[in-house]
Amino acid sequence: MSFVFEPNPTPSVAVKRENARFPVRRIFCVGRNYEAHAREMGKDPTREAPFFFTKPADAVVDDGAVVPYPPLTYNLHHEAELVVAIGRAGFDVRQDEAWDLVWGYAVGNDLTRRDLQFEARDKGRPWDWGKAFDNSAICGPVHRAAHIGRLEKGAIRLSVNGIVRQEADVADLIWSVPEIVSILSRSVRLLPGDLVYTGTPAGVGALMPGDVCVVEIDGLGELTTTIGDPAQ
Ligand code: MN
Repeated sequence: MSFVFEPNPTPSVAVKRENARFPVRRIFCVGRNYEAHAREMGKDPTREAPFFFTKPADAVVDDGAVVPYPPLTYNLHHEAELVVAIGRAGFDVRQDEAWDLVWGYAVGNDLTRRDLQFEARDKGRPWDWGKAFDNSAICGPVHRAAHIGRLEKGAIRLSVNGIVRQEADVADLIWSVPEIVSILSRSVRLLPGDLVYTGTPAGVGALMPGDVCVVEIDGLGELTTTIGDPAQ
């Protein structure tokens, strides 16, 4: 088998305290999964079925990166999130089986072009241009579930230039990790390398060039991103 040009390298994220990296296959993201964030987005936080959107696998960015301010937006937002890394295939898995698919956890930042997302939402268009742009899936090192166990609680917080903007607890997720994995697996066959961004708490806000954004989840460490000047 040959290709007409060299295939792009497999996107990947770091693994905590290991040299090998976690190869990324797909990125799924849960919309509105904390009540207070649903309210700040102007939506009813009742427990309606979760919905998902996706980002390209090569949108992943490691801890410590400088991310250029993306094009087409005047309102780039941060979203602190717990990321679940899938390590085993599963289709239509029950909640009590869902933990078996989880390879690990990471701290994530679901960068969002909020103005484009709202425009799409209001016009009934896809969210892709608001969510699925280059460098939009920031992801810290993955911690093996074998070391962490079942992640069901823990403080999650985000600061910009040292000022805390988002602060909540993973226990406040409307849909828990096994519920999300189970529900997602009814729609697609989950496969090793899939990442799931589980949703952000309240307090999302704008980032500007020069800002240093730090996301932290208890037990998973910090994820630091600097916003650079717009890409040339
Ligand atoms: Mn999000």
